[in-house]
Amino acid sequence: MNKNHSSTIYLDKKALANNLEFIRNLLTEKNKFSAVIKGNAYGHGAVEMMTALQELGVNHFSVFSAYEAKQVFSVLAKNSVLMIMGDIPDEDISWIVENEIEVFIYDLKSLQQFITTAKNQQKQVNIHIELETGMHRHGFDKKHWEKLLGIIKANLAYIKLKGICTHFAGAESSANYKRIKDQQENFREGVGFFKQAGLNSENLHTSSSAGAIAYPEWNLDLVRIGILLYGLWPSKEIQLFYRMKYQTTFDLQPVLSWHSSIMAIKEVKPGEYIGYGNSFLAEREMKVASVPVGYGYGFSRAMSNTGRVLVKGKRLPVIGMVNMNMFLIEVTDVEVEISDKVTLIGKDADQEIKVSYFGNLSDQLNYELLTRLDKSIPRKLI
Ligand SMILES: *Cc1c(COP(=O)(O)O)cnc(C)c1O
Repeated sequence: MNKNHSSTIYLDKKALANNLEFIRNLLTEKNKFSAVIKGNAYGHGAVEMMTALQELGVNHFSVFSAYEAKQVFSVLAKNSVLMIMGDIPDEDISWIVENEIEVFIYDLKSLQQFITTAKNQQKQVNIHIELETGMHRHGFDKKHWEKLLGIIKANLAYIKLKGICTHFAGAESSANYKRIKDQQENFREGVGFFKQAGLNSENLHTSSSAGAIAYPEWNLDLVRIGILLYGLWPSKEIQLFYRMKYQTTFDLQPVLSWHSSIMAIKEVKPGEYIGYGNSFLAEREMKVASVPVGYGYGFSRAMSNTGRVLVKGKRLPVIGMVNMNMFLIEVTDVEVEISDKVTLIGKDADQEIKVSYFGNLSDQLNYELLTRLDKSIPRKLI
């Protein structure tokens, strides 16, 4: 067990390799793929994940912000591409141009700033034009395409057009089918507009994990894959769709597991309340153990009196309220000692606590739950 922190997150490289094969099977020779490692690599640890992925041959990465780009930049291999899909404060523009990081461009003002900086540095900025196609988050509206085109054409010496892209609003659910079909039409129109004007982009890209499975004809030149990498499904519906369509038993494997250890053990008499308040009353002689992980580390308070963890291959109930830094489990019928391993997410003998189980109990999306895992918890590749 890690001596410096009350819990440790392990990253399974074999599972990661398996998921890469799974992803490559979804794609054709023509579709490149970018590993999305925003949100601290969905809580897995961006530096650790980038390191492992590069060792496994991945060389294209996507993050949300300049801040995230800076966090992984020191481990970025020379032949790897880093792409920022969102926020870039003005102060970071110079660093981005200098280090040839690729960026989504979604407003004219920032494009102008990038061009000015590229001129000053006598360099080219690597841009992906993000088109507004119906998500209404960010991206160029049709009414601005003409102006955008003018600016790019006038500054081609300082711009490398790496891509034209968009993002589908909820490809993980068939409820959004019509909206996504409309987005695809709008994207087609936008791409046609720039192409007709003589502007050629290296990559067209629209798909994330759900899109790659539900709309494979839209995988185009580059696919931005997040959740599948980590061995999780974008939604139940996509999982089912995949099963029906591909008729294969090849499956994703979760990369992350989360472990802590028992901190203290106590006997409690019938009639005593356990933990804060009176949410749990001992109705018989009980043995309880404390685990030094709480909502402050991402173990949701919603797990109070309902969650399960694994100790010695047994599923044991969380009793009482989850605190900021710890929670209690019942160990009445199990031989346990202080320092015994507690599995919060992952496998122990033939038992498993899945991210989806944890997520369902705490009413969180797998994406949400993972990104809430505290950054201070050490991540270890195994
Ligand atoms: C997060 C994100 C992705 C990856 O989504 P997954 O569902 O995790 O595959 C792709 N594109 C953009 C723009 C994103 O923000």
